[in-house]
Amino acid sequence: TQHFLARIEQNASLGAFLATDSAVSLAQARVADARLAAGERTPLLGVPLAHKDIFVTRDFPTTAGSKMLENYRSPFDATVVGKLGQGVPGQGPGAGMVTLGKLNCDEFAMGSGNENSAYKPVMNPWDHTRIPGGSSGGSAAAVAARLVPAATGTDTGGSIRQPASLTGITGIKPTYGRCSRYGMVAFASSLDQAGPMARSALDCALLLSSMAGPDLDRDSTSLDLPVADYATDLIAAGAVGAGATAPKSLEGLRIGLPSQFFGAGCSADVLQAVRAALAEFEKLGATLVDVDLPLTELSIPVYYVIAPAEASSNLSRFDGVRYGHRAASYGDLTDMYKKSRSEGFGDEVTRRIMIGTYVLSHGYYDAYYLKAQKIRRLIAQDFQTAFTQCDIIAGPVSPTVAWKIGENASDPVASYLADIYTLSSSLAGLPGMSVPAGFGAHNMPVGLQLIGNYFKEAQLLGAAHQFQ
Ligand code: GLN
Repeated sequence: TQHFLARIEQNASLGAFLATDSAVSLAQARVADARLAAGERTPLLGVPLAHKDIFVTRDFPTTAGSKMLENYRSPFDATVVGKLGQGVPGQGPGAGMVTLGKLNCDEFAMGSGNENSAYKPVMNPWDHTRIPGGSSGGSAAAVAARLVPAATGTDTGGSIRQPASLTGITGIKPTYGRCSRYGMVAFASSLDQAGPMARSALDCALLLSSMAGPDLDRDSTSLDLPVADYATDLIAAGAVGAGATAPKSLEGLRIGLPSQFFGAGCSADVLQAVRAALAEFEKLGATLVDVDLPLTELSIPVYYVIAPAEASSNLSRFDGVRYGHRAASYGDLTDMYKKSRSEGFGDEVTRRIMIGTYVLSHGYYDAYYLKAQKIRRLIAQDFQTAFTQCDIIAGPVSPTVAWKIGENASDPVASYLADIYTLSSSLAGLPGMSVPAGFGAHNMPVGLQLIGNYFKEAQLLGAAHQFQ
């Protein structure tokens, strides 16, 4: 804990952290020490990590990257935070990890470059003039710069996979509902999902087993399914640790390549790195098959209708009364709402509230929101058709390597378009991950995306682990 706290301090200029509190972290480390001294031997006990600042925490402030929640402190921990740390009431003691602090992110997780944080941008550790991806940009940068061994992230339309890809780390967005959303500041509730970001598939496997699981009293959409011991499964599959002799093989695994993920929209350097990684999978025994996801392009307009619609509803709770910022002076109640919200929300959040309110309004609901919901269903069906021909779908995560800070600042649609390869699986609720594939233009990292069918996290982690 002391080692990582020092690294965080030395690398403060990266902008990865929004809050640290060494006294709190060291106290948590002492609790872990006591559990160790009492003979407990569980794999994550005492291992430090940091949380995306979208998870509420009792011991640290929670801002969701927004001025709206400046200085907000939650009276409870998010379920994911509790499960990894000191426990969740009624669900046992927790894995005993030590929280190092809270990680920068786009405001309310809206963005693809961490430039929408109300506090500060995050630098990509590989090139400080470039974005680390978003919205879990602080999580990705902190892991990539080795300021933390692991971090949590959330993914609504790519926010774990894309920053993982752009910083050369591993991240998995599980099946929708795998991890409880309780205590995750809501963006788009039918899409939001928590997941781990770490150096390897094995580390992600360790974390996911502790993060995931039903939490039906607190999040009725959490999946009522048992969670596998993912890491033990990977180790049993061989090739971990000194002396491991089991052959690395992916014999029989069919990897589907959607033509829509390999077209002109993807830059050549990214495609080259992705294809080179896929050739490695072939050497390990996998077979590559062509599949079709014909509605991929529509996932952008569909997502950017549905996600803002849900956001406009979720963010109505920030009214200056129940939570967060309240304007210092105002006239009547309506004026108080208006001033507090105008001052508290940044431009991107305001834009989404306006889009969301519009597509939900009488007279436009059928034309936009309902239509988008219908196409969402068709997108999910296309995946099921593809999964009759393959076990895992693969492609790029992002059409380019990390762009320059400020490059897309005046053009929000440009960053919406960069979400093309992550949105469709989010809309379908499928698990997806990013695995470092190599390097592209400017020697920047490129991630390979693996998408699995529902509940197939173990298969994704296994394939990624064999490759790594
Ligand atoms: N880039 C997407 C957006 O801005 C996805 C964000 C996310 O997954 N939280 O909405």
